[in-house]
Amino acid sequence: MTSENLTIAQQAALTSGGDFWHTKALPEAGIEAVTLTDGPHGLRKQPEDGDALGIGASEPSTCYPPACALGSSWDPQLAERIGRAIGAEAVAKNVSVVLGPGVNIKRSPLGGRNFEYFSEDPLLTARIGAAVVHGVQSHGVGTSLKHFAVNSQETDRLRVSANVDERTLREIYLPAFEHIVTTARPTTVMCAYNAVNGVPASRNSRLLTELLRGEWGFDGVVVSDWGAVGDRVAALAAGLDLEMPPSGREAEVVAAVEDGTLDPAALDTAARRVLTLLERTTAARVVGAGYDQDEHHDLARTAAAQCAVLLKNDGGLLPLDPGSGETVAVIGEFARTPRFQGGGSSHVVPTRLDSALDALRALADDPERIGFAPGFTLDGVPDPELVAEAVAAAGAAGHVLLFLGLPESAESEGFDRTDLDLPAGQLALLDAVAAVNSRVTVVLSNGAPVRLTPWQDRVGAVLEGWLLGQAGGSALARLLFGLDNPSGRLAETIPLRLEDNPSHLHFPGGDGQVEYGEGLYVGYRHYDSLGLPVAHPFGHGLSYTTFGYGDPEVTATGDNRFDVSFTVTNTGTRAGAEVAQLYVHERAPRLRRPEHELKGFAKVFLEPGESTRITITLDERSFAHWSVLDHRWRVDAGDFDLRIGASSRDVRLRTAVTCPGDGFHRPLTADSTLGEWLADPLGAQIIGAAMQEMAASVGIAEDSPLMSMGAGLPVSRIPAFTSSITAADIARLVAVHRELSAG
Ligand code: BGC
Repeated sequence: MTSENLTIAQQAALTSGGDFWHTKALPEAGIEAVTLTDGPHGLRKQPEDGDALGIGASEPSTCYPPACALGSSWDPQLAERIGRAIGAEAVAKNVSVVLGPGVNIKRSPLGGRNFEYFSEDPLLTARIGAAVVHGVQSHGVGTSLKHFAVNSQETDRLRVSANVDERTLREIYLPAFEHIVTTARPTTVMCAYNAVNGVPASRNSRLLTELLRGEWGFDGVVVSDWGAVGDRVAALAAGLDLEMPPSGREAEVVAAVEDGTLDPAALDTAARRVLTLLERTTAARVVGAGYDQDEHHDLARTAAAQCAVLLKNDGGLLPLDPGSGETVAVIGEFARTPRFQGGGSSHVVPTRLDSALDALRALADDPERIGFAPGFTLDGVPDPELVAEAVAAAGAAGHVLLFLGLPESAESEGFDRTDLDLPAGQLALLDAVAAVNSRVTVVLSNGAPVRLTPWQDRVGAVLEGWLLGQAGGSALARLLFGLDNPSGRLAETIPLRLEDNPSHLHFPGGDGQVEYGEGLYVGYRHYDSLGLPVAHPFGHGLSYTTFGYGDPEVTATGDNRFDVSFTVTNTGTRAGAEVAQLYVHERAPRLRRPEHELKGFAKVFLEPGESTRITITLDERSFAHWSVLDHRWRVDAGDFDLRIGASSRDVRLRTAVTCPGDGFHRPLTADSTLGEWLADPLGAQIIGAAMQEMAASVGIAEDSPLMSMGAGLPVSRIPAFTSSITAADIARLVAVHRELSAG
C-alpha cells in the first residue's frame, strides 16, 4: 500500500493515531493498526484504554533496571542484552514499537525524570542508548528515541521553553540523539513536550526536519509525545508524522490541505512514513511467541548487579561473609519493600519482585542471624517505636545494613524535586543507628542523587543501588555478600550541595522560560573546570578488587584520529570489572572549553592477576568543538592531553597528542579583524602594506603597542581611523584575498 492510493482524509487519519496505544487501522485500504507501548525499562502494555501517567493497570512484564541504573553499568553490551530481552517481550505481546529509550541529559539532580535518563554526559548516554535501540530492534520491534529535545525538567513541562545556545545544543543536548539516529536507526523519534528556544518541539522544523532528517538522515517516523501537539497543522508541516494519542483534529488537517495552508506533499510524506513504519515492524509479529520469565528475571538480576555503585568501603567493611556467623541487622523498610522504579509512564507491573531481606536470608548460612527492623514507614510519618526497635537491633548486631532511599512519591514524571535530602525521618534513624554501631553499611534506593554529606562520614560503607528493577533486591544481597563484585560507576556527579550544581541559578526557570545559562558546563564539565570539591566524582565506583593501569601507547590513524592503547590489570584477589575512562583536555583552546570531556571508555572483566590490553579509538569529533561562526564542527590544530583513569578525578595515565586540525579556513572578509587577517599567511601578506601605510599616516611605529589595539578591529572600520585607506581599498584587499586563495 502506498500513500498515493489514499484519500486526503485517509492520510490525515493515518497520521493521527487510532486510540491511546494504536495507530489508525484503515480496513477499507487494507491497513492494520500497530501497538505502541512504554518503555523504556520494561513493557507497560495496557488494556485498550490507557493513560500516560502509569496509574492504570498494565500486563506484567519484566522490570529491568531503569536508565539511572543502566547508565551506571557503563556497559553497552549489557544494555543491548536488555534491549533484546525487551524486544522479545514486545514480540510476545504483539507490541510493534517500544517507547524508549529516553536519552535526555541530566542537567539538574532535581529533574523529576532523571531516573529515566542515563547520564549527565552525552557520550555515555549515546553509547548506552544506541545499544538499547540495537537490542530491541534486533527483533524487528521498533523503538522511540525520546524526548527530542532538551527535555531535562518536569516543571511546566508542556509549555516551558528551554533556551539553549547553539554550541551547547550541539555539544551537550543533541549528540546522543545524533549518534543513535546515525548508528542505530531507531524506527521512531518522539518529540518532547517543551519548546526549544521558543518553538514547541512538536512543530520545530529546525529540529524535526533540518537536523533530524537533513543532517542526520533519519528515515523513520517522528511521533508526538502523548498530547504534545498544540497546532496540528503546523506540526505536520514541520515534520511531525504521527500524533499520539489522536486528538480528533483530522478535519483540520483535511481543511488545511484543501485551503492550501498545508502542502499536500507534507501530509503525503507523513502518511508514507507511517506506512513504512507499519511495514518495518510487521517482521516482529510472531503469532504464539513467548519468553521465559525466569530467564528474563535472571537477566534483570545480572544487570542490576552490574549497575549498583559502591561509593565508599572503609577498611574493606564489605563484603559480608555469608558463612561468618556474624549477626546482621537489616534495617529499613526498603529492604522488605523494594523501591525499584520511578513513577509515571515508565511504571511497569513486574512479573515478580525480589526483596533484599529475603535474598540475604536465603544466601546466609543461617537465616536466623539476619535480623530485621523496618525503622521507618514509607509514608514518612515519624514512628518513635520503629526507631527504638531498630536502634536496639543495631546495638546488638555485628554489622548493620541500613536500607535508605527516596519514596516513590518523591520521584516521578510530572514534577521535579526541590531538594537533595533523604526524608528527615530516615536521617534521624541513621543518626541513632550510627551512634550504637560502628559497622554500618548504607544501601541506597533513589533515582537521582541524594545529599550524602550530612552522614557519609559516620558510616563505613555506602552502596548506591539507584533503582534496580524487579531483581534489584537479590542483586544487592549478592553484592553485599561478595557473590558478585560491584562494577557500577557514577554516570552523574554527586555534588556536596545542591547549590554547587551548575544549573542551580536557572533551574527550573519561570514564566514559561528556562535559561540554560551554564552552557556547556553540565555535570563534571562544571565541577572539574572549577576544581570544586564533590561528594563523589563522575565515573567513580569502587570494587572488592583493585586495578592497575600501564603502558599507554598512541597510534595516529589519520588526521585528528588516534588509537589509544593501555593495559589494565586486576591487582587484587577477587574477579571483578573495571571501567577505564578516557578524558580529552585541550591545552590552549581558542574558545573556552570544559576542563576535559569523556571521549571513550571500556568495561573489562578480569580474574585476579589477569591483564588486558584496551584500545580506545578517538576520531575527529573527539577533539572538535561546535563553531557558532561557521555553524559546523571544527578541530583546531593543537595539543590535547589524554587522561586515562577510573573517574574524572582519578587519572592513572597521562599522554598527549597533537592534532593537525581540520584545515578549515574561514574566508577572510571585511568583517574579519585585523588580527584574523594577520594570523592568515596570505592575509598578512596582502594587508601588510596597508598596515604600514596606516601606521605611518597616524604617526606611530608599526611595532608600537598601540598597533595591537587594532588587532580586534574589523578591517571594514579602518577607514574610520585613517584617511589613507578607503572602503574601496578594503573591498579590493578582500577581493584580492578571495582570488588568490581560490587559485
Ligand atoms: C511521556 C512519554 C511516554 C508517553 C506515553 C508521556 O507522558 O512523556 O515518555 O512515552 O507519555 O505513555
